[in-house]
Amino acid sequence: MSIQRLVRLLGAATLVITATSATAGSVSIRQGDVARWSGMEASKCGYLGRLYPAVDGVCYYPTDMKARTGRYDAALYDAAGNQHIGHIDVTRRECGKFDVKIENEALVNPQGADLDRHLREYRQVKRAINPKRTEPRFTLPLGQPASSGIGGDNDFCFERRFNELPYTSTHTGRDYPVATGTTLSAVADGKVVLAADHFMTGNAIYIDHGDGLVSEYFHLSEMDVKEGDEVKKGQAIGKSGATGRVSGPHLHLGVRWINQRINPDLLLAAPGELPDIGTSQ
Ligand SMILES: [Zn+2]
Repeated sequence: MSIQRLVRLLGAATLVITATSATAGSVSIRQGDVARWSGMEASKCGYLGRLYPAVDGVCYYPTDMKARTGRYDAALYDAAGNQHIGHIDVTRRECGKFDVKIENEALVNPQGADLDRHLREYRQVKRAINPKRTEPRFTLPLGQPASSGIGGDNDFCFERRFNELPYTSTHTGRDYPVATGTTLSAVADGKVVLAADHFMTGNAIYIDHGDGLVSEYFHLSEMDVKEGDEVKKGQAIGKSGATGRVSGPHLHLGVRWINQRINPDLLLAAPGELPDIGTSQ
């Protein structure tokens, strides 16, 4: 089967199991996690109706923090074009809750012109976070976004309640306790697809690293790159701060991969720690 035909079929959100398919094992992950499939010299990967390049011969299967639970097909295409099918069982992630106190009430529940601005910016972001799935410009693990402060309690996917009001939002990334003024670095080579002062996220930078991977850095005190800039891994992009809807200084790092919101911690750690279909039998 030609790759073009596969793309069309995958576009229909179903994997077609071809005559050359070999089935492999399965792994279990939680919503917001990433599975991998190593040891097969992968060239392309298929998951969630998408076809995208492998990274260093390994397939990765990023799974959104709100993905439906259940069993998913994961495809791997080897160098000869043979399709292999594994399975990923996605289980529910138990996310905590916490209260956030925001001094500026207008940021909690924006109205009028603030709401219009927020919605306009949200549309800009939606365009930035789902780029074309070009060849990867990164290897794993990604580089550290700051030389200090990357740690703290895991708050990915937590439900946040602001000022004890009934408006909650789900946290799509990680807040690291990085001090104001700390230099921030690009986690991999890429292109800045958005760098703007936004109502909620403050000074915010989005970088496209190829393969549908986008990193997001929010609440900066200073931005040293602009939309369209090419950046190198480790290059300074700005300084940490407390702009936008924050209760104090920190770096919010978010990672989207094939438009799936995943825990950034997983891509900063050794990829061999991820559940691996290739070693699951
Ligand atoms: Zn955050």
